[in-house]
Amino acid sequence: MLYINGEWIETNENLAVKNPATSEVLGEVSIARIEETKQAISSAKEAMKHWSKLTALDRYNYLRRVANILRSKTDHIAEIITTEMGKPLNEAKAEISLAIDYVDWFAEEGRRIYGETIPASSESKRLMLIRQPVGVVGAITPWNFPIAMITRKIAPALAAGCSVVLKPASATPLTAIEVVKAFHEAGIPKGVVNLLHGSAKEIVDQFMDSSDIRKITFTGSTEVGKQLVRDSANTMKKVSMELGGHAPFIVFDDADLDQAAEAAIASKFRNAGQTCVCTNRIYVHEEVVDEFVDKLASKMQELNIGNGLDPDITIGPLIDANAVEKAASHVQDAVDKGAEIVVGGQKLTEDQYAKGNFFEPTLLKNANDQMVISYEETFGPVVPVFTFKTEQEVIERANHTQYGLASYVFTNDLTRVYKVSEALDYGIVGVNDPLPTVAQAPFGGVKESGVGREGGRQGIEDFLEYKYISIQLGQ
Ligand code: NAP
Repeated sequence: MLYINGEWIETNENLAVKNPATSEVLGEVSIARIEETKQAISSAKEAMKHWSKLTALDRYNYLRRVANILRSKTDHIAEIITTEMGKPLNEAKAEISLAIDYVDWFAEEGRRIYGETIPASSESKRLMLIRQPVGVVGAITPWNFPIAMITRKIAPALAAGCSVVLKPASATPLTAIEVVKAFHEAGIPKGVVNLLHGSAKEIVDQFMDSSDIRKITFTGSTEVGKQLVRDSANTMKKVSMELGGHAPFIVFDDADLDQAAEAAIASKFRNAGQTCVCTNRIYVHEEVVDEFVDKLASKMQELNIGNGLDPDITIGPLIDANAVEKAASHVQDAVDKGAEIVVGGQKLTEDQYAKGNFFEPTLLKNANDQMVISYEETFGPVVPVFTFKTEQEVIERANHTQYGLASYVFTNDLTRVYKVSEALDYGIVGVNDPLPTVAQAPFGGVKESGVGREGGRQGIEDFLEYKYISIQLGQ
């Protein structure tokens, strides 16, 4: 179903939604074409007239209602997430909890959109700055965090006084429908949130052509993000881009190796390796590399791969067959260039895995910088281990990438904590911490990992414009 101007709409063209663990068709959703996209944009424009004039407290109350509704539906939505994109139920619940945190956080932040006064150069003038909503927002989201990426955009947009047209990933429309139902049930006025499924290119081209859409907020691949930045230039939209990553995970010889190995499991195998912040390269000091690889390999034996609806499963399927092929090709390329497979390495195609998109959790050692896996995002459960000798060397190698989203450092040396975290060219550094993402901290990357920040007090900034007002007083 589409949601336009407060109404659920069906069209005569549909998109099928599949379970990546079983290939079963879960259902179909209507798709929008140019006509529906234009309607959604104009209803959002109309709705903003009223929504942007509400008090911050009114908008806070609406968003708190949304958060409570989502909270009450956690089990139901978790099952939809797991069947639609594969992550185990516990991970789906953790994602919903994060998604709700964003709604609560931005409900509050909307009440702290402060202006400024500026000292004037003349006694007869008064200068001030006010903050106003940027305008109608076009939001485009990926499948790998099908709820949190939506609330991380819609909540700050609404809190700032903007309205939104959302185009979620085609793999996860059912989760998006559940999120928008919560906004509907919370009584959010018609047109403030609109939902479209369908051809990304067709819908987003309409966003780009429309001068009514003043902001594009996108989470997805770097390749698409670059295209959207280029396309936004025609109508000079504000953009924020949360794009791909290639996270280094550095283990120094003074680190707690058990803690680091446990952290590598969380950072690499959560969501079957399909996160923008997940570890892509593990660098281990030469003195401890063998010990670390043994510890990680033994913890990997405890991973239980299968259909995420089973509560004993800790790692689910990949999103589609192409993702399995990509993981397999990265492993093959690494082996051809000298890597050794320590754990896994194969597609799983028999028995319970026959109809799904499964790839074994895989550990490679003796990795080198010529391997494709050392510079391209795998987006799958494969991790290569590289060896280093010095701090300077590992910082240079960790930074040698066009990406700059998340990075991880494992050490118990306080001086090194400061020096290395300051030297890493990344938007996020987890020190002995594999899971740094929280609603109250700004999330985002540098270089080709993106522009702007989501979450934190910074996350509402991109939905606001400054207006400078200079007042000449009378005699
Ligand atoms: P994707 O292919 O770029 O798709 C993301 C969204 O963009 C989907 O809604 C997709 O729609 C849409 N899209 C695809 N092609 C488009 C086009 N030509 N014009 C306009 N929109 C288009 O990325 P993905 O495979 O879903 O997600 C994985 C990527 O997202 C990874 O690179 C990952 O690192 C990144 N990611 C980044 C963050 C972050 O916060 N930095 C978070 C999560 C994921 P359809 O589904 O209909 O094609």
